[in-house]
Amino acid sequence: MPKHPLAFRGIMSGTARCVNARRPLTHLLELGERGLAVKVTRQCSIEGCPDLVRTRGWCSSHYYHWQKYGDPLAGRPSQEERFWAKVSKKGPIPKHCPGIGECWIWTAACYPSGYGMFYLNGRLTGAHVASWILAHSPVPRGLHICHHCDNHLCVRPDHLFIGTRSDNMRDMHSKGRGGGRGACGERNGHAKLTGDQVLAIRHRFDAGERGVALATEFGITQNIVSRVVTGASWRHVGGPIRSLDHPRRAWRTRKETV
Ligand SMILES: [Zn+2]
Ligand SMILES: [Zn+2]
Repeated sequence: MPKHPLAFRGIMSGTARCVNARRPLTHLLELGERGLAVKVTRQCSIEGCPDLVRTRGWCSSHYYHWQKYGDPLAGRPSQEERFWAKVSKKGPIPKHCPGIGECWIWTAACYPSGYGMFYLNGRLTGAHVASWILAHSPVPRGLHICHHCDNHLCVRPDHLFIGTRSDNMRDMHSKGRGGGRGACGERNGHAKLTGDQVLAIRHRFDAGERGVALATEFGITQNIVSRVVTGASWRHVGGPIRSLDHPRRAWRTRKETV
């Protein structure tokens, strides 16, 4: 008879496998009388745990924690611990403001836009936004988290600031970056004109020259001339800019006044 009251005598050999998990069951087998394997049911070796052994002397829950966190007694890490485990604090120092120190770089998954992503409170969030929320408070609706350092992967809380979309755009323009569509003006590699040419076009159009003639002379389309003179592009260059009123709206108001 087996020694343990709960144990039963089996005929399984040491190579027996759990039917479901296809995992060796040898850890649950002990050699019984006459050299036969005996399955022994024991309690989890963690003090006070009422569950039965699954692997390495632990129940499935304690085994899971050992597997995942390296310690059967380890609890689930907090969101902060999970977050900062994915951050490298040896990032580059931003060139335009070296005084704020090096960036803390997100090293885990990213959005195609280049911002890191993190599951915060069960929702997929931008890593820089998550950093702000963990350090400060939730971000009110309509406000954005922006970077002083311009590094999308940076999650260092003191490199971040909260602002509206236009704050962010203003910040980007002040640092010489376009709002999402790349550099503006001559810095844009696709630019067809220079700032001086734009000024010349505006002045000459204002003086009464026709857009078609200007387009031919400068080797651009009439659409570009129209964008230049209405300030839809090259607004920062200055010069006489015509009202941005939609032509049809202007026509309608003219018709109404007649
Ligand atoms: Zn246990
Ligand atoms: Zn930074």
